[in-house]
Amino acid sequence: MAKKRFGISIPDDLYDYLNKLSEQLETNRSDLVEQAVKTFINDYKHYLIPHTCTGVMIVSCKDEKALKEIIDEFQDIAKTYIHTHENNVCIELMFVSGPSEKIALLQKNLQKDGKCNPRYVPIISIKESKSSESQQ
Ligand SMILES: [Zn+2]
Ligand SMILES: [Zn+2]
Repeated sequence: MAKKRFGISIPDDLYDYLNKLSEQLETNRSDLVEQAVKTFINDYKHYLIPHTCTGVMIVSCKDEKALKEIIDEFQDIAKTYIHTHENNVCIELMFVSGPSEKIALLQKNLQKDGKCNPRYVPIISIKESKSSESQQ
């Protein structure tokens, strides 16, 4: 695949991390940045193009009641949960599967008013139509 070359500016500390990491992983910086950008875009693509998605929602939350209420509303897409506590904080691991718009809404509701801190990791993405594919 053809590759484009362009210059970027990043803070010193980020640059140091990049150098250390590329040494540790024995890859060049360029490959490392490519991987990082791919992961980033993949995570965001999830919200731009409607598709059926399967992934894991990892949530830390101080408000157990709010967390339970939100999860109850999304029972159709949140299939399996693991709930545990660490330092008085709820940690919820949810296996999620369904329309990406609904997953995005679940994440949005969890984030609302800074109640919880959700992180979604998409695992399997299935594109729904040809028209959405051309947007990539
Ligand atoms: Zn997705
Ligand atoms: Zn809890």
